[in-house]
Amino acid sequence: MTEKKFVYSFAEGDGKNKKLLGGKGANLCEMTQIGLNVPPGFVVSTEACLSYLDSPQQQLPAGLMEEIRTHMRALEESTGKGFGDAHNPLLVSVRSGSAMSMPGMMDTILNLGLNRQTLEGLVRQSGDQRFAYDAYRRFIQLFGKVALGIADAKFDEPFEAVKQREGVRADLGLTTEHLREISEIFLGVVQEETGRPFPEDVYEQLEIATKAVFGSWMGRRAVDYRREFHITPEMANGTAVNVVTMVFGNMGDDSATGVGFTRNPATGENQMFGEYLVNAQGEDVVAGIRTPKPVQAMEEEMPDLFRKLLELRNKLEAHYREVQDFEYTIEKGTLYCLQTRNGKMNATAMVRTSVEMEGEGLISRHQALLRIQPELLEQLLHPLLDPNHEATPIDQGLPASPGAASGEAVFDADRAQLMGQAGEKVILVREETKPEDIHGFFAAQGVLTSRGGKTSHAAVVARGMGKPCVAGAEGIQVNVQSRTARIGGKLLHEGDVITIDGGNGNVYLGEIPTVAPDFSTHLHTLLGWADEIARLKVMTNVDTPEAAQRALEYGAMGIGLCRTERMFNAQERLPLVVEMILASTPEEREAALGRLLPIQQADFEGLFKVMAPRPVTIRLLDPPIHEFLPTERQLEHELGHLRQLRSTVEGVEDLMGAMQFLQTACGGSAELPLPFNSNGVPLIDEAIAKKELMLHKVRELFEVNPMLGHRGVRLGITYPEIYSMQIRAALQAAVACQREGFEVHPEIMVPQVCTSQELLRITPMVEAIQQELEEEHGIKLQFKFGTMIEVVRACMRAGKLAEVAEFFSFGTNDLSQATYSFSREDAENKFLPFYNENGILQDNPFEVLDVNGVGQLMKIAVEWGRKSRPDLKVGICGEQGGHPSSIRFCHQIGLNYVSCSPPRVPIARLAAAQAVLLEAESTPS
Ligand code: PEP
Ligand code: MG
Repeated sequence: MTEKKFVYSFAEGDGKNKKLLGGKGANLCEMTQIGLNVPPGFVVSTEACLSYLDSPQQQLPAGLMEEIRTHMRALEESTGKGFGDAHNPLLVSVRSGSAMSMPGMMDTILNLGLNRQTLEGLVRQSGDQRFAYDAYRRFIQLFGKVALGIADAKFDEPFEAVKQREGVRADLGLTTEHLREISEIFLGVVQEETGRPFPEDVYEQLEIATKAVFGSWMGRRAVDYRREFHITPEMANGTAVNVVTMVFGNMGDDSATGVGFTRNPATGENQMFGEYLVNAQGEDVVAGIRTPKPVQAMEEEMPDLFRKLLELRNKLEAHYREVQDFEYTIEKGTLYCLQTRNGKMNATAMVRTSVEMEGEGLISRHQALLRIQPELLEQLLHPLLDPNHEATPIDQGLPASPGAASGEAVFDADRAQLMGQAGEKVILVREETKPEDIHGFFAAQGVLTSRGGKTSHAAVVARGMGKPCVAGAEGIQVNVQSRTARIGGKLLHEGDVITIDGGNGNVYLGEIPTVAPDFSTHLHTLLGWADEIARLKVMTNVDTPEAAQRALEYGAMGIGLCRTERMFNAQERLPLVVEMILASTPEEREAALGRLLPIQQADFEGLFKVMAPRPVTIRLLDPPIHEFLPTERQLEHELGHLRQLRSTVEGVEDLMGAMQFLQTACGGSAELPLPFNSNGVPLIDEAIAKKELMLHKVRELFEVNPMLGHRGVRLGITYPEIYSMQIRAALQAAVACQREGFEVHPEIMVPQVCTSQELLRITPMVEAIQQELEEEHGIKLQFKFGTMIEVVRACMRAGKLAEVAEFFSFGTNDLSQATYSFSREDAENKFLPFYNENGILQDNPFEVLDVNGVGQLMKIAVEWGRKSRPDLKVGICGEQGGHPSSIRFCHQIGLNYVSCSPPRVPIARLAAAQAVLLEAESTPS
């Protein structure tokens, strides 16, 4: 015996210990122990897997096979069958299962224990020769593929050849003789491909299978999946092996196999959802080989069993208090539960089930909030097809994962990956997908298959990723070799654009416009609960009333950042801004600013009114002003053109003069029409002079490091007219709104501040304008004056800054740039991906707040700031403000709000509530 225990029977394993037994194994133990009808079996632990993978020659830990034999003997006893017994054989399935659910990522072997002798026993046991041969050929095929590494095609091709020769379409049409022939062919394939006969010894089969499942943990699919979903060794390390007594869904018409969800995973509706196949084995349903029936059809076809299935569903939900994704088999009228796990659902379903399960008393409100990954909510904001489109679908399949997507059709996963990496939008079109297509899913906007149901591999994986999927569109014939597909009489080539609607299963040719979706009442309810619990307020970063309106619908509680420079970029304003920049005296500049003032004031009024009575944070001009001018190269190019034009015009005028002279000399009329009026050259000269002036200004404004140069408050101090105009526009807008009866709360925010002296240069401007307006209009203005904290020195001088500023807003885009000394413009497409892939940096600091570096500076700034001003309001408006783990950190260090782009507002609201709940969970009582 081994010293360490590696194997646990279902009756003894700890159902909560997923790390040791894997999710599937732990659940099999738990289901057994709560009295569900689970076929007997045992789990070989993940520790055995790690020991195997760590051993130099990939050896099973000493004594493991002995331990397995002991458990097999116990199985023999409880089933009354013998493993390898030629008369009454015990057959088992061997399945993988790690602590984190990785659907379809690793392999399962069914019917293990079959060989030439036990096959006869199975014929006797079942009384059905056809069934036994079918089981045998399936076993050789799966074992060959999974345990011996033989390519699928080696089995699929001869199998299809026999079917074609016999004119059989469905597998069920194959006779015993055909299956016997296929089994022999398969045995030959194994011999040919491995150079060895198929293993007849059942324990040898079990040992090889165990090793193969362990090995699959490091297979490409599994490694890719873990990388994509950030599954770290702390979350799941190694796979367990589940050895389960076989039960058969293909023992006749009183047998069936099915997969189900306790609720609908696409809509969340509280109704059992799933599909089953009579007289079939589990892989037939999942692989999409035969198109199954919806579970509701069982109510008519097998009413007793349907009732039992409902009972099973109710027990599962009552016990796990979570939507379950379960597999079952009915063998000659007996229902067995083979597996259960928490159901992977799309965002719509997660939200609806959270609200409804809370209503049913199955889960608490806190659990309802905690069970949803905030990022998932982004799916709910995914576009839907414009309901007014008039395109006619060219085919329809099953609506397998909602959302709509357009892209170029590609017919294999490798091409999808290649084109996706090249920045193309693609739709992966396949007959059916397999786990090895996973890289194609990652690259695609959506997935379309011609076979399989709503629980086929394509559907499950797409739903998990929140990508649209249409499955089982049977009118499509895919030809991978010629990279074409025939759909509804049309020939589609790779690269042709199609659109799929995962909400109704329609497929269209070409691209169809999309619209933003509506917020559901369930989401409103859930986020309403979140807002009640959260301490952080969620604001938004917007610059226009339209965007503000959208953010408001998503639940934004104010504007945390209005980047005013964006308002200057609009077509009709840019000339005024340029005029302001080119001005050679303060008077000239003020004149230009005077014309910008009413425009800017109107912008602010629009924002204030939409947001009233919520706060609106207006950040004064931040970027270096040369950003509003054309580049030096562009100007030189334009000047070149103008000069050329000038000499052409001069040339033409000379020519006309010469011709006129000639004509008069020859006695003809002197009148020749001029192609240009006499202003041609002066006009061009004027344009040249303007461009030259601009070029001169551009050269004058040139900076080697503009992001560290003349921008932000530095600009505001050296060109006070600019900030003065903006402050006036904001306060005049507030006056105008207040007089119209709106309650407005502007917050004026100064960017790039590094010393309180800078703020002290701006406050007098604010005070003067405030006083002037209050006196003029006889009203009291309610507003705050604050600063962004986006340079390291500002963090270190937070105490001093807070003496002047009433609020801080962390500009973590710049603060991260400054803390790392990484250029935010360059890092992400130069070295950061390499840093992330090679583990030098865990995350991209411009996406996820670096809590260990930047976060510590923030923490200090909050502490020191509040020491001088206890009621200092503090927020964050960098990109990280919409990221859940960053939001959690902001909560922990006592920020008052986060501000993010509108589509991240719902995510942030949920994350803010979760921050409170997770804090309560981790605080020892
Ligand atoms: C920031 O630096 O985080 C910020 C919000 O400002 P911007 O991105 O406009 O520089
Ligand atoms: Mg900034």
